[in-house]
Amino acid sequence: MTGGPKVGGGAVQISAEAIALRVREVARAIEDDYRNTRLHLICVLTGAFAFFADLARQLDLAITVDFLAVTSYGSQLRSSGEVRLTKDLSLPIAGRDVLVIEDIIDSGLTMQYLLRYLSGRGPASLEVATLLDKPSRRAVEIPLRYVGFTIPDAFVYGYGLDHDQFGRNLPFITSLGEAELASL
Ligand code: 5GP
Repeated sequence: MTGGPKVGGGAVQISAEAIALRVREVARAIEDDYRNTRLHLICVLTGAFAFFADLARQLDLAITVDFLAVTSYGSQLRSSGEVRLTKDLSLPIAGRDVLVIEDIIDSGLTMQYLLRYLSGRGPASLEVATLLDKPSRRAVEIPLRYVGFTIPDAFVYGYGLDHDQFGRNLPFITSLGEAELASL
């Protein structure tokens, strides 16, 4: 793929400037809620890496960070709900105030799996911040404490999210149009 994916023809287009503005707003909301605690941020790899790095640097709080990775089986466009942990946490979370940072909540099945897994490790509190939320596709209810952008049902990529593994380095979020979806 020469040069990688470019702007898609879909309806969802979020500029780098709009993302930066919203990340700052979400950071202020998190600061208000966790001012007197030691917040532990968990990045869900791979898609959340860009949001995580920008959000963490916006937080004027004492934070610690950790990473886990999951693979959800399915087609390029839809996760099957069959989730596998491919990288576990490095630090214990028992008794800690944990905020999970995710790129996108679609069916919610991946996050349902993760919340069950993490709550089994005894955190003092467990909340979710997602950059993108596609509520129209939800199969299970997921409590989302912080949402960057609520978007319609579209396949999006850029700013950490991939299009067939490419496009994660795009500074903006874009989406596939009908013609592009049909040719997949
Ligand atoms: P869920 O389990 O909520 O259906 O899906 C969550 C995961 O599916 C996300 O973490 C992400 O990896 C992937 N995903 C869902 N929708 C999209 C999308 O529009 N674009 C990309 N690149 N990944 C998506």
